[in-house]
Amino acid sequence: MQITTDGWLELPIGIKHEGKLFKKVRISKSCLLDMKIATNPQYKDNGGKTLLAQLSRCIQEVDGLLPAKTSVDARIPENTKWLREMYLEDAVYIIMQRDFMSDPFEKEQGVEYTCPNCGNEDVHVLLLEDVPVYFAEDATTPNEVYNEFTLEDPVEITRGSGTVKLVSGFTMPMNLDTHIRLMSSASSEEQRSAFSVALACAKFLDSAGKEYTLTEAESNVLSNSNVMTIIQSCTVIPGVKQVITVNCSSCDEEIAQRIQVPNFLSKKESAKTVLTNLDKGMSKFAKK
Ligand SMILES: [Zn+2]
Repeated sequence: MQITTDGWLELPIGIKHEGKLFKKVRISKSCLLDMKIATNPQYKDNGGKTLLAQLSRCIQEVDGLLPAKTSVDARIPENTKWLREMYLEDAVYIIMQRDFMSDPFEKEQGVEYTCPNCGNEDVHVLLLEDVPVYFAEDATTPNEVYNEFTLEDPVEITRGSGTVKLVSGFTMPMNLDTHIRLMSSASSEEQRSAFSVALACAKFLDSAGKEYTLTEAESNVLSNSNVMTIIQSCTVIPGVKQVITVNCSSCDEEIAQRIQVPNFLSKKESAKTVLTNLDKGMSKFAKK
């Protein structure tokens, strides 16, 4: 991950607006207002809302879309369509860049691990430039940024008077608006789990290529192997990779370890929980 020095950065996916894609954004360092936003009780139950509020302050300019702001603390109105439709992956990338450019001394972090093979406990020093980021370089529109999957166990659902057999599908990156709605409507931890988030990103196809979205109840019958397929499909969406591979200092075993995400994502119901759950889901399935 290359950290910006002048505030300009290229988004892993980009902002979609009126059929065009805008990838170059200028951001500014953290300020006191960001801290006030992060601790505002108005946003406390929804990490997506905090993220939106942080972006509205942090983004200073979008090449071809938003002219330079007159002041770093000016806020883009939170009902701005393109802002609400920004991808979660791009949003997280911006906040990480902001935090890193705000504190030039934190260019590394200790990643603690316990080796599942030999029990060795150690700390891996992760250098900032080694944090993996995947860019959707070849995509001309965000709609092309999706990952196809084939269902090992085709699923039958009832639609109208007949049944439909779903054989494949694709996962798409989630936008902030969807994320905020998902977090607002989730009444339990299960609903905020990796499965729910993965399913919210997934569309299913029958053999004729017709598109379907599964309801919560319909998704309950998905087999474990299907769920694993969907979650894995979600993890290759562009953005900052939340999981790195560490080699055990004692036995050289490869261990999948989660990277610490920015502090603002620390609240229980925040995006961090979602990402943590997603990672837990991934590692759980990876072990099987
Ligand atoms: Zn080991």
